[in-house]
Amino acid sequence: MAAPDLETVVSLAKRRGFIYPSAEIYGGFANTYDYGPLGVELKRNIRNAWWKSMVQDRDDVVGLDAALISNPNVWVASGHVANFGDPLVDCKKCNSRFRLDHLEEGDYGPVSRDASGKPLCPNDGGELTEPRQFNLMFKTQVGPVEESSSIAYLPPETAQGIFINFENVLTSMRRKLPLGIAQARTSFRNEITPGRWVFRTLEFDQMEMEYFTLPPKDRENPTEYLAMYDQWVEARRDWYSEVVGVDPGRLRLRPHDAEELSHYSIGTTDVEYLFPWGWGELEGVACRTDFDLTEHGKLSGHPLTYFDEESGQHVVPWVIEPAAGLNRTCAVILLDAYHEELDEKGEKRVVLKFNPAIAPIKVAVLPLSKNARLQPAAQRVYEIVRKRWMSQYDETQSIGRRYRRQDEIGTPLCVTVDFQTVGEEGQPGDESVTIRDRDTQVQVRVPIANLVEALRDRLDPV
Ligand code: ATP
Repeated sequence: MAAPDLETVVSLAKRRGFIYPSAEIYGGFANTYDYGPLGVELKRNIRNAWWKSMVQDRDDVVGLDAALISNPNVWVASGHVANFGDPLVDCKKCNSRFRLDHLEEGDYGPVSRDASGKPLCPNDGGELTEPRQFNLMFKTQVGPVEESSSIAYLPPETAQGIFINFENVLTSMRRKLPLGIAQARTSFRNEITPGRWVFRTLEFDQMEMEYFTLPPKDRENPTEYLAMYDQWVEARRDWYSEVVGVDPGRLRLRPHDAEELSHYSIGTTDVEYLFPWGWGELEGVACRTDFDLTEHGKLSGHPLTYFDEESGQHVVPWVIEPAAGLNRTCAVILLDAYHEELDEKGEKRVVLKFNPAIAPIKVAVLPLSKNARLQPAAQRVYEIVRKRWMSQYDETQSIGRRYRRQDEIGTPLCVTVDFQTVGEEGQPGDESVTIRDRDTQVQVRVPIANLVEALRDRLDPV
């Protein structure tokens, strides 16, 4: 179907317990959101699916969980203290602040310009100041003394925790190259651009992997390295459609041109999604070369190298980095899964068509009605199901409304306990229940004795 508008999905996400604006009772807080009971499951499922693809299913990648706050020199070596900024301009009339690159790209609306071609304030046409570099890293103080030596930074990416642990992982795990180290954790950026929901927030979870490879024989012509990079680019795009279930027609790859490349990269390709406001980055795959290991080696005085048995030399590995955003992926999944269609009775139903692996609630157990004879059997079924999958039990309102509620939160299967299960008054039941499929709305009857197997076939078909 056509993309839903953003407000529809933002409102459903709030109403049904996925994502709330943070601190709403205080009027909210810039670009900050909280994840509700369903949002936290959604996030966890996406993170687990990423971890499974990147770590569990591969022999050449291991995991890591590095500290968030660490030695500030980490961010000096990485170039973030000097380079990690956005060009900001202020309106001299209304004092509003804008990111110049986003303003030029039309993010604040159509760009009007003065006679010399300089952009003007999108609010009131006022003159803008010259751009100033604004560092996106949050600073904090470590220890009791407020002085510059105690300054530390909140991490704006997870990658550096991986680079500084490269040698630890290599030696403790007795690994050879190529070796990937994966990490999924929170990052922080003092973003000033308007939020667009969870697309851009001050704190966000990243899922990053640094893939360490032998350096190319010819630095100017790193053919094999670039071939590996191409493979990662494709693999990461395919992950969104094949594992997460995003419509492949709304995904594209966009290589960066030379001016756009970060200071550490010789090539970057973004996996982009067609958001309601246009194409936007979901993940970046970057050729970080030996930049980070070399810089950490220089500043720390502790060279970070690998002993290549073939050449008999210590070499600095070259790195390929797929860096994904968990919160943006949540936004994409909610937007992409949203469907409006007609139900059995020709009435509108809203369905979130999540892949079962991603769905927050896998099974809902519903007695046909709130009835004393149905309850014990329904509770018994619920106890069987909830041990294995995130499940809900719901007996309020009509069965049709309860199906609608489960459709709206993307529950793949509903199990209904009815009078055939328990038997009419004075009659024995047949101990069977129905399984209703969210997408087809088709119901099949299965004996309770076979229920776990029947659900597993539908939910975890691996
Ligand atoms: P953008 O250009 O949109 O600011 P970026 O190129 O700076 O993003 P990277 O540094 O490549 O982003 O980070 C990797 C991923 O982390 C992004 O693709 C995105 O999914 C996520 N990400 C980055 N910044 C934010 C943010 N402020 N809020 C939510 N997710 C973010």
